[in-house]
Amino acid sequence: MPTIDAILQKRELDRDDIIALLGASASADVELIRSSAEKVLIDECGDAVYYRGLVEFSNYCAYDCHYCGIRKSNADIKRYTLSKDDIVAAAKWSIRQGYGSVVLQSGERRDPEFVDFLEDVIAEIKSATVSEKLPNGAGITLSVGEQEPQSYERFYKAGAHRYLLRIEASDPNLFALIHPQNQSWQNRIDCLKTLRQIGFQVGTGVMIGIPGQTVSNLADDVLFFRGMDVDMIGMGPYIVHRSTPMNIHADYYDQHKDKIFQTALLMIAVCRLVLKNVNIASTTALQAMRDDGRELGLRYGANVIMPQTTPVDVRRDYLLYDGKPYMSDDARLYHSDLEKKIKSIGRKITVDDWGDSKKAVLRSQASYQCLTLKSKPLKSLKSKSLKSNSFLVTGAPPP
Ligand code: SF4
Repeated sequence: MPTIDAILQKRELDRDDIIALLGASASADVELIRSSAEKVLIDECGDAVYYRGLVEFSNYCAYDCHYCGIRKSNADIKRYTLSKDDIVAAAKWSIRQGYGSVVLQSGERRDPEFVDFLEDVIAEIKSATVSEKLPNGAGITLSVGEQEPQSYERFYKAGAHRYLLRIEASDPNLFALIHPQNQSWQNRIDCLKTLRQIGFQVGTGVMIGIPGQTVSNLADDVLFFRGMDVDMIGMGPYIVHRSTPMNIHADYYDQHKDKIFQTALLMIAVCRLVLKNVNIASTTALQAMRDDGRELGLRYGANVIMPQTTPVDVRRDYLLYDGKPYMSDDARLYHSDLEKKIKSIGRKITVDDWGDSKKAVLRSQASYQCLTLKSKPLKSLKSKSLKSNSFLVTGAPPP
């Protein structure tokens, strides 16, 4: 079996390599993986950290994922939807801070009223954020789940250009264990493909540490990301929420949370090593497990942070999992705290920039070139090449 050092010298990592990296536990090996991922990040994407102001605009959800705190059957939370004015105000606040981009996230609804509302909000944010620094307005990422293709088209035409739709588990059997029967793995795959066809920059991700998940599952997740040719990754550790059917795994979670946390960091590093120039978010779930979780995520190869800009009075009602941080701080305090932490690890905060991934930028340059090639004689153009770019344990399965 090759050493971690030998694996890291390889140009292309195969499934066995990825399994070995994700299973590393000796601190010297882990540090080697972390520093290699950090080097790939700096070489491929630079030292910039991109911000997206996160607006959790509604916690109404028509679905019932077994792990999620805002699932429709959870009667312990107060439901809310922010007004269009409040959402636009939060987006404008983000842009004034120099974030350049916002993420609009909510529970999943596909009804016409929701689609009309969101389309209107996107258009309003776009027109309200045009400036000299951002001539095309704010960059807008959506995270509102599975929708009809026509709805995706409408959101795209209204001005959203990135979409995060987590697969949660690329193994259909594992997916089925954590979702009710009316949610289909295949439909999620179809949605990811539709989003790409429409023109969105597409992101996906998984939960790390689901009871019963293995290192091989996680290696297959990484290969899935590569196969889907995604532009962004948003993933995080599995954290129990007490008002969900998966609360029966609270003991499992308590026993294994250190391992789950470490594996989540290794997943970031391995995704960076394999996918190279995508954007990877260092998610709030990491910070829920450890105070310095998100800085560590950055140090393992992540380059995106999504500061919380949801109004404080409703933030507590958007608890996807227990222990979510920054529930009472106002956005200003949160912002300055985050800035200090990012600077403390020697990274640069990018301002007034959409912060698209290098992969997406290269893809769009390639499409442009393709169009140009179609309209000019081939000989007259120079070709420009593109850069190619039982972990845990076997536990009882979720209900
Ligand atoms: S994960 Fe998304 S679709 Fe599932 S219950 Fe939560 S908000 Fe709804």
